[in-house]
Amino acid sequence: MLFDGRVAIVTGGGSGIGQATVRALAAEGAAVLVSDIDEAGGEAVAAKVCDAGGKAAFMRVDVAEAGQVEALVDRALSDFGRLDLAYNNAGIEGPQALLAEQDMAAVQHVFAVMIEGVYLCMQAEIPAMLESGGGSIVNAGSMWGLAAYPLWSPYMTAKHAVSGMTRAAALDYAKDGIRVNAVAPGPILTPLLLRGWDNDPSNASGRVPMGRIGRPEEVADAVVWLLSEKASFVTGHVLPVDGGMLAEKG
Ligand code: NAD
Repeated sequence: MLFDGRVAIVTGGGSGIGQATVRALAAEGAAVLVSDIDEAGGEAVAAKVCDAGGKAAFMRVDVAEAGQVEALVDRALSDFGRLDLAYNNAGIEGPQALLAEQDMAAVQHVFAVMIEGVYLCMQAEIPAMLESGGGSIVNAGSMWGLAAYPLWSPYMTAKHAVSGMTRAAALDYAKDGIRVNAVAPGPILTPLLLRGWDNDPSNASGRVPMGRIGRPEEVADAVVWLLSEKASFVTGHVLPVDGGMLAEKG
């Protein structure tokens, strides 16, 4: 198995892509600390992993709160003894409006969860990984962190920041045994996508060259690969998992 004896954190692990990634990491032997603000969702995912014979625990963490993020990493160290892997996945779609009409409190919330949240996670995770002898981080970017789309400027801005901080962190720790990458999904069938597309995924699939939207497991497989030693020479990469959408944009 790819992750025997390894310890992982997944934020936003109670739903969608995070949930699929928790299951995929546990199936490869990792002990997974699942975190989310959704206690019922996160507890259920951790329980399913344990029922299937894997190792997982849940902790309620809001990634926008530095103290809670530090406590999450402390819990990984106290419960499982080390930290090797992290998927910083928690995210929200944010409000849809013209840029000049966006409500700044809502914009700041998007930035707090997806810019500060990912940054805070890396700040807490990296020292623990250095103590564990190295590690691998994947951040949840988006194809909208490499291109733009109208009316969703808070989300676009946040995901472009995730692309940037991923590359910056990768370079800061390139010689220290820590790789930092991001996935850049296109439309993936999750509650977030359904909220953004009025519960009608066909609104999104028509724009995808492959003619369909993706499954959470297809992103989870890319995360697993990036986190694993199979990607041992890959760092600072933002990997589209988008059915060809970015290829079409050039
Ligand atoms: P989802 O809504 O199914 O899951 C997101 C999870 O994050 C939820 O469980 C939610 O409770 C949690 N969360 C939200 N705010 C949080 C906070 N402050 N602290 C901790 N947890 C929090 O959505 P998803 O589609 O699985 O999205 C996962 C990630 O993938 C997000 O970062 C999203 O932007 C990104 N993404 C999704 C798509 C897509 O089409 N679904 C495409 C590109 C990128």
